[in-house]
Amino acid sequence: MKLTSDLHVVGGGYFGFGISGRLDCNVYIINSGSELALIDPGMGIGRDFDTILDNIRDDGLDPGRIRKMILTHYHCDHIGAAAEAQKRLDVEVYASALAAPVIRVADEKAVALDVAKAANFYPEDFFLPACPVDVELDEGDIVKVGNLELETYDTPGHCDGHLSFVMRGGDRTYLLGSDLVFWGGKVVWQNIHDCRIDAYAQSMFKMERVEFDALIPGHLQISLTGGKAHVDAAAAAFRQLGIPPNLL
Ligand SMILES: [Zn+2]
Repeated sequence: MKLTSDLHVVGGGYFGFGISGRLDCNVYIINSGSELALIDPGMGIGRDFDTILDNIRDDGLDPGRIRKMILTHYHCDHIGAAAEAQKRLDVEVYASALAAPVIRVADEKAVALDVAKAANFYPEDFFLPACPVDVELDEGDIVKVGNLELETYDTPGHCDGHLSFVMRGGDRTYLLGSDLVFWGGKVVWQNIHDCRIDAYAQSMFKMERVEFDALIPGHLQISLTGGKAHVDAAAAAFRQLGIPPNLL
């Protein structure tokens, strides 16, 4: 589905738009006109990534023009399909410097796949394929997609190595926030080894200082205007020494 002249949503499951695999995160295509980039390819169970490719084509876009795949963090609902996407699309893969070594070897403990399976959140027979990472990103790095520029922000808290991106140069300013924050200032708390309240609060305060129009999250609904209000709500909850409400 075309959201704006710069952005399409081409995947998302039960916690999203129900347009691809049930466990897929929201999957986005950035369209600069001259070049496409894929943001998180989803979980990739069975033939679910084919559905995402079909959605891209249905939007009138050629998957062969995707040059970059950006992975926001290493949870399986975001990167399970990364290896398949990398092979089929021949893309350059981007991830945080902290997530890259985990993704390269598919470290299932680091990505908390073992506890997610034990909680019946992911199927028992799912395994995470290893995916090469070409470019390791740090705070402040700029990723160019044609004339669009994505500025990298380290935003740990939901998990270590989580990145958010502020995209400028299009018809508005976007926060590609992945699992940092959702509508109404909700966040995703999980009982996993690298979900950290203090880091989450610092990440939210950091993004509170950045101006943007659209909140483009990793799950649930998108706010094409007024997106900043959701970061502000989460930051306000942290400032009261509390924690924002949980999406789960
Ligand atoms: Zn996540």
